[in-house]
Amino acid sequence: MLTNDKLAEWDRESFFHPSTHLGQFARGEAAQRIVTGGEGVFIQDRDGNKLLDGFAGLYCVNVGYGRKEIAEAIADQARELSYYHAYAGHGSEASITLAKMVMDRAPKGMARVYFGLGGSDANETNIKLVWYYNNILGRPEKKKIISRWRGYHGSGLMTGSLTGLELFHKKFDLPLAQVIHTEAPYYYRRPDLNMSEADFTAHCVQSLEDLIAREGADTIAAFIGEPVLGTGGIVPPPAGYWEAIQKVLDRHDILLISDEVVTGFGRLGTMFGSDHYGMKPDLITSAKGLTSAYAPLSASIVGQRMWDVLVQGTDENGVIGHGWTYSAHPIGAAAGIANLKLIDELGLVKNAGETGNHFWQTMREAVGDHPNVGEVRGEGMLCAVELVAEKDKRQFFDASEGKGAKVVAAMLKRGVIARAMPQGDILGFAPPLCLTRAEADQIVSATKDSIAEVL
Ligand code: PLP
Repeated sequence: MLTNDKLAEWDRESFFHPSTHLGQFARGEAAQRIVTGGEGVFIQDRDGNKLLDGFAGLYCVNVGYGRKEIAEAIADQARELSYYHAYAGHGSEASITLAKMVMDRAPKGMARVYFGLGGSDANETNIKLVWYYNNILGRPEKKKIISRWRGYHGSGLMTGSLTGLELFHKKFDLPLAQVIHTEAPYYYRRPDLNMSEADFTAHCVQSLEDLIAREGADTIAAFIGEPVLGTGGIVPPPAGYWEAIQKVLDRHDILLISDEVVTGFGRLGTMFGSDHYGMKPDLITSAKGLTSAYAPLSASIVGQRMWDVLVQGTDENGVIGHGWTYSAHPIGAAAGIANLKLIDELGLVKNAGETGNHFWQTMREAVGDHPNVGEVRGEGMLCAVELVAEKDKRQFFDASEGKGAKVVAAMLKRGVIARAMPQGDILGFAPPLCLTRAEADQIVSATKDSIAEVL
């Protein structure tokens, strides 16, 4: 077996890691962790650490690590039929069965599911379908997509443009021209507005109305949003937000894409975030929780009114020119079937609601009064702890101090993984949906002790 030092050397010399400080990594100044195994909510690394994964990888290992049922389903599928494509009416028993299972769980009004590989490509699919739809309807000028600042929708050309975080734009010549951004529904970060949460909802809605008026509704095709802002800070929307936004979109004939890559398949305590907030999406983007990341797979779920137009389009123009080699990959589909069965059998959607709410409420009780904790918020199995320099004035730390990252490092010493969210001093938590109350309490106590140590 290779020594740890040799592996670390190969890693620094060969491996281009995503979302990593490349210079620091190559010089050996950045963190390096070689993960070797996982069981339940824990992972192990080559240095002998056992860590409670409070972020489920990247909010994706929803059923937990080491599930034999999924491993066996993948192995069986690989032996029986490792691959066949899904073009021109082809499929496998696994891909068809998973399609049926997804549609059985999808919110009302959805018609079909298209399978890709990850959240970014599912959003690319959805944007292409929106453009196709408007071209078929004879309104080629209706193409702009509204996204929100702090939204995260991937890091491709289009999806990186939709993402409303500067890190994903700068030096990449993004965003592309068809994308416009509107206000993030993030009340805590707008102390300057000095208004109630209800007024803030009205303010967000007015910002959207103003943007539509400036650009012209006949140039705007769709609005994309995560039911709960994820990577932008784990921010549940202010009360009444989605209901009010939906009314504006309906009035201007703008489609809604609900990006449920994080919230899909149970994380909020409902099968989809759209159910949770009463959203009526035309398209749903999902990935992570579909297979709990045992294999890469995404699902773009298409609503009936779009589907009817897509059918009309191919009747007029022939085959739809969209597809990946690995669309509906049988191994991904087999993982998805076993994963969705486990979610049902173990009651994980219910657990995400019950244990998740216990988790973030206990977190609030444990650290909410600390002078450097501005807000603890959550919904289902999502939680954020917002660190501040001065609580009364809602004054934030200077980003260069990296307070969030320091608390996360202190938590690692206590055997718990949290995530320093990419913008702002926010500790993010998105544990596997199978988290128990005892494990939730372990995360809370590590957070409390680490905040006390660092701040
Ligand atoms: N959309 C949301 C809401 C996400 O959180 C992510 C990834 O975290 C994506 C899209 C992109 O998914 P992927 O990284 O699988 O391309």
